Amino acid sequence: MAKSTKGQIGVTTENIFPVIKQFLYSDHEIFLRELVANAVDATQKMKALAASGDCKEELGDLQVHVELDPKEKTLKVIDNGIGMTAEEVDKYINQIAFSSAGEFLEKYKDQIGNIIGHFGLGFYSAFMVAKKVTIETLSWKEGAKAVKWSCDGSPAYDMEEIEKADRGTVITLYLDDDSQEYADKARIEGLLQKYCKFMPVPIVFGKEQEWKDGKYVDTDKDKIINAVEPLWTKAPSELKEEDYLSFYRTLYPMNEEPLFYIHLNVDYPFNLTGILYFPKLKDRVAIERNKISLYCNQMFVTDHVDNIVPDFMTLLHGVIDSPDIPLNVSRSYLQSDAAVKKISTYITKKVADRLEGIFKDERAQLEAKWDNLKLFIEYGMLSDEKFCERALKFALFKNTDGKYFSFDEYKSAVESAQTDKDKKLVYLYATNVEDQYAFIEAAKNKGYDVLLMDCELDSHYVNLLEQKLTDTRFARVDSDAVENLIPKEEKVKPEMKEDERYDLENLFKAVLPAGNDYFVQGDNLGADAAPILITQNEFMRRYREMSALGGGMNFYGSLPESYNITVNMENPLVAKIWAAKQADVAPQAELPAEAPSDASEEEKTKAREAREAVRKAHRADVEAFAGGNEMLHQIVDLALLSNGMLKGKALSDFIARSQKVVQDAYLK
Ligand code: ADP
Repeated sequence: MAKSTKGQIGVTTENIFPVIKQFLYSDHEIFLRELVANAVDATQKMKALAASGDCKEELGDLQVHVELDPKEKTLKVIDNGIGMTAEEVDKYINQIAFSSAGEFLEKYKDQIGNIIGHFGLGFYSAFMVAKKVTIETLSWKEGAKAVKWSCDGSPAYDMEEIEKADRGTVITLYLDDDSQEYADKARIEGLLQKYCKFMPVPIVFGKEQEWKDGKYVDTDKDKIINAVEPLWTKAPSELKEEDYLSFYRTLYPMNEEPLFYIHLNVDYPFNLTGILYFPKLKDRVAIERNKISLYCNQMFVTDHVDNIVPDFMTLLHGVIDSPDIPLNVSRSYLQSDAAVKKISTYITKKVADRLEGIFKDERAQLEAKWDNLKLFIEYGMLSDEKFCERALKFALFKNTDGKYFSFDEYKSAVESAQTDKDKKLVYLYATNVEDQYAFIEAAKNKGYDVLLMDCELDSHYVNLLEQKLTDTRFARVDSDAVENLIPKEEKVKPEMKEDERYDLENLFKAVLPAGNDYFVQGDNLGADAAPILITQNEFMRRYREMSALGGGMNFYGSLPESYNITVNMENPLVAKIWAAKQADVAPQAELPAEAPSDASEEEKTKAREAREAVRKAHRADVEAFAGGNEMLHQIVDLALLSNGMLKGKALSDFIARSQKVVQDAYLK
């Protein structure tokens, strides 16, 4: 080769540089990762050559140096790796790399928006931020001559022989005018921290500093950016719990301690290492995501792993390192990639294995941490069929007394008391111990157990469990009178005639708050039971909640609130009020006859209106009676109060009335 050559880079597209720039617009910063990764590769190859005995020369300290000159606006990446001969520069830089970048861009030009940002454009990504790039390199090969390659961003390059004493490569970037941000020390250090924190060869950037005479000054000790042997590359048997916890702290200094961790380590049929942590999950699932970082041979790639692991796994924290996850493809492709599918299945299985192990061997730990873990498990069960099947064995129930049960244990515990007349197990649950206190107590007094289901996903979760646990249904503890929650035998309902039922309904509707739907029903619940119970139909309520959570049941969400009003006809207060109503309100007058079928439309309307008027007059009588009956107001308000439904004026009226009632009773 002549001492100096000029040539054209082997590119198909003339204007490839503008394309590279535009294409990677949002991700310019990855150039540094790419250059450092190349330098690291070159040093690793040197190590391999020495280990195999092919190279016998002294290796020295294998390191990569990043040097910034803010005045000159240059950035250098320097390694003492294998270097390149002139032929290799020609082969790897002038021909291959460029044409493969060209091919790549050609192939994906339609999907610019979809492309995963990090596809290893390699060396040429330097041109995203530099107007000129030089390579000075001396190959390790005996007798090799050092060369300098330079290119100013046009497809033309220069190559010349130079003097270079040390083996290895110096890449120099002359920063572009619109990329001056990279002439800032803090910016470069930030990027090195982000992308190179765990690369396997020491990366030096500047000097360690010390506090001297009132300010920080450089020492003569190199500042090494990275930990060359991050925890996930070590054998689990060498590590202690504290090692995992302190690694978590270096990854997420602001976070609370994690609940559990998993060390992933597999080399067949694919290569994957990593450490995953179960974090303490707060209520908002959405903001907790994307804390898993993906690495490729210790080089940071992304912290968006949503196409690589199942959705619920994105709630975990930690690192995954795998050279087998293709990086230079679009996201939609990633999901259908066979290797990625295998990896995803593997991770799900490992997570389930670990949880099952904790369930078997560290039950006390699992119970202690369950409240913080359950959101993750429930989300996993709801979104991943396979995980759900596994989790049925290790998921826990917690009851309102704070006791934990596995699903099997719970079944055995409540089976005898909570099986209904149709041989179905009925699991009672509360969503709020305070609000539903009276109902919970009533159920417990009857010998039932009440679960606590206060997680934001629970309405969906309860539906799921009804499908998974055979012959089991869930009923919220306030969804009916305790006598009716788990029906044991056919009950005798009070005998009431049609118009009596109608009166009962109007009587109560007259004093209940307007704006809701009420379904009023008389029932025999015993003389000692409360006069009135206000409950919400289990299914209506669940559908409303799910529609609020976005379960695609919007129809239910738009209905008014509807309540069941169960009037206990055996309660003495109710019996007395009812008797008074029967005595004071005259029965409804006989309804005028309906118009015969051959009557004219006009006659029919007239007859209908006459009948309606009689009903209306009677209803007005019932309402007048209701309005004047203090005790009726009192028992309805008490029921509303115990459901947390008595508010504002109604509440203060109730207090004033109660004072009077109590006073009257006491002073009489
Ligand atoms: P890739 O790294 O994906 O192969 P690059 O464009 O980054 O693509 O680099 C092309 C080739 O140039 C590398 O495979 C390597 O052979 C060579 N190369 C790049 N940087 C260096 C370096 N610092 N030292 C030695 N060889 C290098």
